[in-house]
Amino acid sequence: MAKVVILSGAGISAESGISTFRDSGGLWEEYDISVVCNYDSLVKHEDLTIEFYDKRRAEIEDKEPNYAHKIIKELKDRYKHDIAVITQNVDNLFEKAGMRVEDVIHLHGFMPTVRCRDEECAKVYDIGYKALSSFNDGKCPECGTKLRPNIVFFGEAAPMYERLNAEIQDCQFFVVIGTSGNVIEVNSTAAFCDYAILNNLEASSAIAERDFDKVIYDKASNAIDIIADDIESFLQES
Ligand code: NAD
Ligand code: ZN
Repeated sequence: MAKVVILSGAGISAESGISTFRDSGGLWEEYDISVVCNYDSLVKHEDLTIEFYDKRRAEIEDKEPNYAHKIIKELKDRYKHDIAVITQNVDNLFEKAGMRVEDVIHLHGFMPTVRCRDEECAKVYDIGYKALSSFNDGKCPECGTKLRPNIVFFGEAAPMYERLNAEIQDCQFFVVIGTSGNVIEVNSTAAFCDYAILNNLEASSAIAERDFDKVIYDKASNAIDIIADDIESFLQES
């Protein structure tokens, strides 16, 4: 297990032009999230749900990673086994920054891929930025079942949480960037590990500042050099 865990959320991609829930704007305001992001969305509102994710997939095509993604990529290159990069984001900006797919743990799915709806088959296909229906008529090439966005909807199981739990159990140095802490609870890990850093734009009611050793309310691209220095000092001393 890695000594350092870097957990990011929508805020790390905000400077790349992908809106967070809170900032709203763009696609999040055009659609009712409870209608298109729920466990029963594909049954109750199939067309609308597929359309929402088609638009979000198309939206990320021209988005570029920012300085924070790039510095995290460099850190991971340098300390491959000592750092785990875990994100709630479904965009591919870490991958666009040059990270290998297997080096980024996506807790809530990955937008450029779609998945067979048959849970036994569950094959995953990379369709890039295209609409789901443009790939093999929206059906699984393996078994013919309809495909779905490879996204964890509200109320669905999130298989990658097992990886998160395994990593945070042994984590010594915890970094939280760009997440309000509403979906994933961060306080107990921050309190438990040796050192914890929080970087958001502003305080969140779901995050206890006292559990963190350092709190930086600033853009991730401004905070990341300080964070990287602290991680390097920690790893060189340990
Ligand atoms: P959130 O919207 O609840 O909170 C965003 C946090 O980022 C806030 O605390 C804010 O202060 C901070 N922030 C905003 N701009 C920042 C910046 N430039 N630098 C540093 N911090 C900044 O986001 P969340 O906690 O990730 O939860 C939202 C859920 O929605 C997640 O589960 C995620 O999967 C999904 N989501 C993903 C994306 C994406 O893939 N890029 C975008 C929106 C939502
Ligand atoms: Zn299938």
